[in-house]
Amino acid sequence: MKAKTMDGREIDLQQATLDSFKMRLKGPVFVPGDVGYDESRTVWNAMIDRKPAIVVRCLGTSDVIACMQFVREHNLLLCIKGGGHNIAGLATADGALMLDLSLMRGVWVDTQQKIAHAQAGCLLGDVDSETQVHGLAAVLGFVSKTGIAGLTLGGGFGYLTRRWGWTVDNVIGMDVVTADANMVRATSDENPDLFWGLQGGGGNFGVVTGIDYALHPVGPEVVGGVVAWDASEAPEVLKLYRTLAEKAPPELTLVTFMRPAPPAPWLPKDMHGKPIVAILACHSGKPEEGEKAVAPIKSFGSPIGDVLVRRPYAQLQTLLDATQPKGRRYYWKSEYLPRIEPELCEKFIAHSAKICSPHSAMILFQLDGELNRREDEHSPVGNRDARYVLNIGGAWEQAADDKANIAWARDAWNDMKAFSTGGTYINFLTQDEGPERIEAALGRNLSRLAEVKSQWDPENVFRTNRNIKPV
Ligand SMILES: Cc1cc2nc3c(=O)[nH]c(=O)nc-3n(C[C@H](O)[C@H](O)[C@H](O)COP(=O)(O)OP(=O)(O)OC[C@H]3O[C@@H](n4cnc5c(N)ncnc54)[C@H](O)[C@@H]3O)c2cc1C
Repeated sequence: MKAKTMDGREIDLQQATLDSFKMRLKGPVFVPGDVGYDESRTVWNAMIDRKPAIVVRCLGTSDVIACMQFVREHNLLLCIKGGGHNIAGLATADGALMLDLSLMRGVWVDTQQKIAHAQAGCLLGDVDSETQVHGLAAVLGFVSKTGIAGLTLGGGFGYLTRRWGWTVDNVIGMDVVTADANMVRATSDENPDLFWGLQGGGGNFGVVTGIDYALHPVGPEVVGGVVAWDASEAPEVLKLYRTLAEKAPPELTLVTFMRPAPPAPWLPKDMHGKPIVAILACHSGKPEEGEKAVAPIKSFGSPIGDVLVRRPYAQLQTLLDATQPKGRRYYWKSEYLPRIEPELCEKFIAHSAKICSPHSAMILFQLDGELNRREDEHSPVGNRDARYVLNIGGAWEQAADDKANIAWARDAWNDMKAFSTGGTYINFLTQDEGPERIEAALGRNLSRLAEVKSQWDPENVFRTNRNIKPV
């Protein structure tokens, strides 16, 4: 069978070689034509359609080590799949050996120490459901099907970020299989340079097999959900959003979005497909305080739908899942913002009116709080001046509509990027965004990351990612 080497050559792998490799593994192996190959190789964004030569569904760290040994013996191109949610499809590469971690989804919660140890193939929902049993939560993202590994290695933010910082600010250790197939531990005491690099530098330094998260008391019941209005109310709703966000306590995280109304049961049928504006909120403190904090949202204007209520935190974490299914075509543009200017709101409304797919949305996420209290150099995720994220999220079904939807997202971005801090989120970069965008995401931490790369992966084995070249 044909496979690709790291330097882009095509080589023949003999069947006997593959058979002896399989003998070293516990998990299943798929090659093109096998039942299970297509399911494993596909990722969330249907714009990405790549065909790895071999997919190994690892069952544990020993499988990961065997894969790394095999990759090095044959100089193979390697890609690593966590949750497969990266919009640029970084989890997959033509001709590569795909190390698929999606069977490694164990979570162990230490309630005394308030730590969750999660295997790197976990989705966010795996960690949320196990930690919420104990009224605890890790700082993770908004959609439960996203992989913890890609999210964490790029920084990570969600409803709890305002209280406790980036996801990586809450990681206390990682287990890593290195480029030379050794198992190491990375913490602030053990291999601290590697640990630093992993806190935002992506999968550039090794295969992470487990992540230890510091947990915080949250819920199980919180106040969370969405209130939606007809888009004609957008100028006032965005003004309300700005005002409330500026004075919101750290427990309250506010998100606003504009999009065509999805066919959700809580929205009137005659509004489905029509433009709406909405505020999504999570108050992670005491529910009675949460109810007071969100009252001005619920009583504002004439909402067409309101599901901002007391609910289990783990349920809130799945609320957006249906809006982001695997298999659609996606294209995003994104920037960090220092504040929300009135002029930005005007442009937000104007470009939302030009959305050309029923699934696209313009979103503002609130971040400000704990993450702003550290220095940029604290970890490569940096961007400690970011207070909001603007996401221009194109989503549609048919390849024939690619051009129009991509053009919409780019036009909106070109018109709004002047409001940026100059920084962007590495995990939201699409496949056409190059080195200058990696630089915008990692800023002045990039040169130190290159030094860490030289030490831990001098031959750039981990290259199918937002790649940092060794010095
Ligand atoms: C619907 C949706 C919602 C999202 N919401 C949020 C959000 O709320 N907050 C947020 O911060 N981000 C969010 N993101 C962005 C998300 O953080 C990135 O897409 C992230 O890359 C997803 O991780 P994954 O494991 O699913 O990715 P994958 O596509 O599997 O991998 C992404 C990258 O990480 C590398 N990688 C994966 N696992 C490992 C590992 N174990 N060791 C080393 N390298 C590894 C891969 O090689 C690849 O380069 C969202 C994305 C989507 C699609």
